[in-house]
Amino acid sequence: SIVLIAIVPITIFNLKSFRQFFFQETEAYLKESCTVMKNLFPYDAENRIGGKASGFASRAAAGTGLRITITAEDGTVIADSHGNPGGMNNHADRPEIAAAISKGYGSSVRTSATLSVAMMYSAVRLDYSGGRATLRIARSLEDLETSIRTITGSSILICAVMLIAAGWLSFILAGRVSDLLNKISNTSRHYASGRFDEKCQIVSPKELAGIADDLNLMGQQLNERFRTIEAQKNELQLMLDNMSDAVIFTDRALHVIRMNGAAEQLFELDGKNEEGKSIIELFMNSRLEEFAEMLIHEKKPLIEEIIIEKPKTVHLEVSGTVLLDSEDDDINSVLLVMHDITKNRQLEQMRKDFVANVSHELKTPVTLIKGYIETMLDARPGSPAGTPEKTREFLAIMEKHSLRIEAIINDLLTLSGIEKGDGTELTKDSVPAVNLLESAASTCQPAADEKNIMLHTECDESIMLEVYPLMAEQALINLIDNAVKYSPENTTVYAEAYRSETDGRICFAVRDQGCGISKTDQLRIFERFYRVDKARSRESGGTGLGLSIVRHIALVHGGEIKVDSRKGRGSKFTLCL
Ligand code: ADP
Repeated sequence: SIVLIAIVPITIFNLKSFRQFFFQETEAYLKESCTVMKNLFPYDAENRIGGKASGFASRAAAGTGLRITITAEDGTVIADSHGNPGGMNNHADRPEIAAAISKGYGSSVRTSATLSVAMMYSAVRLDYSGGRATLRIARSLEDLETSIRTITGSSILICAVMLIAAGWLSFILAGRVSDLLNKISNTSRHYASGRFDEKCQIVSPKELAGIADDLNLMGQQLNERFRTIEAQKNELQLMLDNMSDAVIFTDRALHVIRMNGAAEQLFELDGKNEEGKSIIELFMNSRLEEFAEMLIHEKKPLIEEIIIEKPKTVHLEVSGTVLLDSEDDDINSVLLVMHDITKNRQLEQMRKDFVANVSHELKTPVTLIKGYIETMLDARPGSPAGTPEKTREFLAIMEKHSLRIEAIINDLLTLSGIEKGDGTELTKDSVPAVNLLESAASTCQPAADEKNIMLHTECDESIMLEVYPLMAEQALINLIDNAVKYSPENTTVYAEAYRSETDGRICFAVRDQGCGISKTDQLRIFERFYRVDKARSRESGGTGLGLSIVRHIALVHGGEIKVDSRKGRGSKFTLCL
């Protein structure tokens, strides 16, 4: 359209100027011709226009396309190169003639009344001694008009061709430029979406090729920077994920920015889902909230022990640091590193409980023995307490209690031996399950006989298992011994070994028809010193350590111990190794 706006007016203007130029040229030519003829005009002897005028007009016009007319001052035609002056009307009203008479020269363009074609007229005044006349030259403008029309036609054609060519060219150019710009824009879009392997290939024009080169360079540099950042991020993530401590980053408003795998595991969270959530909302823990606020307030690293209840109770040692902005020293983010000390705390508690339990267990027999010793020391010979019978009775009681102390100490030694891993110094052996079962049963046989309890063992002789034989036997002894202890007289205890159908492990099941264990007690009987009925257990020589020894033996073998029992309906202990 710019080309259209430019070419069309220029062409119109050119054509107009061209036409004007032609007309001016023609007029100048006619004017010059008029002057020449004026100079050559043959006046008669009295210097008047005489009879030679007609011949002069015809001669001068001969061979040219011009028409020469000579008129008198009053407009009467005196001579005409192409017509008979007698038959021609007065020319005084012709503008060129009127102008020539008054000003010496005049010209006009109009359609000839006689020939009906466009004509140009130029007239000069002829001054002679008797008056004034005019010499007019007329020229047809038809050939001129034809030439102008031809030129106009050609110009319009050229203009149209130019317009089409310009349109076509600009269409091609616009298409090409738009293609190149599209290339640049596509490449930038690729870079924006992180695909830096794309390159923008432009060879020409130079300006766009320069932009493309700059863009490629920018892409390459961005790629390198992204790779570095990515690598650093991965290293950081790797470090964070391989840390056993839970790590949580928050912004200064305590909204989670990121957390590591340990944090996700410990608090059963999905890190991605929790991003943006506040730690207050996540943990609902006022201590943690206070701690975080203190961190922000103090702007220095702090450590505190905090118990989080959700989703399970965990004791944490939380180290907190605020990361400050390098520019304005304002808090940028908060880093919380949480070390799970639940196990330590539990162990500590267990150790405390254990010491208390052991002291308590030992205190009773020791106090009793001490009491009897004092009584014996105080007893005078002959007094009721000093008789040899009494002394024997006291000694028998003291023996019973010292045996109990021995039993407790033996069990404790066994237990600590297994815990310390002493058992593992022994070598594992492949032994027939039947041997273990029968050896344990024969150890418990005297106790069973005392209560007239039938010991029934059942085992496929081909079953072999890889165990620490002494430990495995000890576990079976404890289970069978318990079954005998907690069963009434004249009952049967079944002990069997079999290969589990589900996982192929070798299991030992010890079943009795005894008092059974309630569901709540079942949860605790494997704890050290836990006894359902303290008096009864003590009576039967129990220490409360038997089942915890079994559990430890199971653990050392990578196996497990389960109980299935109902109060009053007997019990079944299954040990799978
Ligand atoms: P104890 O030396 O008291 O027998 P254990 O650790 O062997 O200690 O057992 C813990 C408690 O579990 C016992 O005090 C007893 O109450 C209960 N128990 C263990 N085995 C049986 C069983 N077969 N039948 C009923 N109760 C049992």
